[in-house]
Amino acid sequence: MEDTRQIKKMRVLMFPWFAHGHITPFLELAKKLFLRNFHIYFCSSPVNLNSIKQKLFSDPKFSNHSIELVELHLPSLPSLPPHYHTTNGLPPHLMPTLDKAIDMAKPSFNKILETLKPDLVIRDFAPAWVPDLASSLKVPTIVFITSGAALVSFSLYCLKNKGGDDYHHHDHVFPFPEVYLENMKSQLVQNSEKSSIRAFQFNERSSNDNTILIKSSRELEGKYMDYISSSFGMKVVPVGPLVPYYVHDDEEGMDIINWLNKKEKSSTVFACFGSQFYLSKEDMEEIAYGLELSKVNFIWVLRFAKGEVMKLEDALPNGFLERVRDKGLIVADWAPQLKILKHSSIGGFVSHCGWNSLLESIKFGVPIIAMPMQFDQPLNARLVEECGIGLEVERDNNGRVGRENLAKVIRKVVVEKNGDGIRQKAKEMGENMEKKDDEELDGLVKELLQLCQKECM
Ligand code: UDP
Repeated sequence: MEDTRQIKKMRVLMFPWFAHGHITPFLELAKKLFLRNFHIYFCSSPVNLNSIKQKLFSDPKFSNHSIELVELHLPSLPSLPPHYHTTNGLPPHLMPTLDKAIDMAKPSFNKILETLKPDLVIRDFAPAWVPDLASSLKVPTIVFITSGAALVSFSLYCLKNKGGDDYHHHDHVFPFPEVYLENMKSQLVQNSEKSSIRAFQFNERSSNDNTILIKSSRELEGKYMDYISSSFGMKVVPVGPLVPYYVHDDEEGMDIINWLNKKEKSSTVFACFGSQFYLSKEDMEEIAYGLELSKVNFIWVLRFAKGEVMKLEDALPNGFLERVRDKGLIVADWAPQLKILKHSSIGGFVSHCGWNSLLESIKFGVPIIAMPMQFDQPLNARLVEECGIGLEVERDNNGRVGRENLAKVIRKVVVEKNGDGIRQKAKEMGENMEKKDDEELDGLVKELLQLCQKECM
């Protein structure tokens, strides 16, 4: 008998932005679609693909090279050798050079499209030229936003109301302090010509851009999804939190896990600020003292830009390492965050509130001590408070994180009785989101099949 599933197999090319925080959710989406009978091509620079290869193919479900990795070669500019064709560990001053190299790779990407002729491209917010290239080859595209619906709705709102409007009409939607909204609005409007922001001004020529895939769940952001639909006429398809379902039992970070095994249940905080951000000397000092003052066990991932690596003793306050020896573990550069958050000894996450980190924390029911640094993180931190799954460590008028304040918030979220509600809510949110996962995936598959079929007709 003919296998109709084979006949209908849609070939999807996925093309994430060159940052870990984008590649990881795109890959998780790729895996889910592959398991629903889509053929997946996954495109990025060789350095990015190498970083995911081993983990992807060691997963028994994907071991036969099921997802096809497609290398996009960027030009090797003098200050940007191939190992810098990623935002991961890229010295911040080289970011514009990476942008330039990515722009120069447009013909190479076109070649890939011509060769593979996919039925659909799932694109990221950037590079902005992807939809035009694809549409010239009659390949439909759909954008997958790896940040949350609160950010998207607020960005759309700001871009539509460049001239000023006031937020009071929207208080019910954006329960954020006006000073923060003003600040973010002016950043968005000032940068509205930059490609990353242009992504929110969806390409009107392509009707598919009226539908957006969002890495989120109605459980967490239903209100913002409804606002996007009702105010901007867009269809929002939540794809769920996309936290890897398979936390590898490999050797990575076993020393950390062994250390955690000796700690009591929910007794330890994990402090980590994502893959793109480097703490200032001042923040580093306040965080060190804050962790120490909280008297809670901690694991802290400390990162330095490539080329700026310094000895931990020199970066941290005098005598700190000695004083916290039994309670604290400092990990240089990178730690397996998922494995750590999943561990039962973890009772709180001191996080910059990058979108992936936030969803990973919710997935494992870990309450959040929010320390937003940049981009969408302040908005995400507000969402954490709005949902009651954590608290933000407010900075003072000079932007300083007070060490006492950090210690106080850690104690409330992790230890003290008056934090019971937060801990309970974090647990429930994780469980409820999990329940919606399959339903949301069904909706996504239906949407993508309709899109491919519409274009084929
Ligand atoms: N991450 C990790 N170990 C680290 C730092 C980060 O595994 O030491 C992972 C984390 O689990 C998350 C991603 O890197 O999946 C960071 O994404 P997020 O959106 O939270 O922050 P960004 O790096 O984009 O600022």
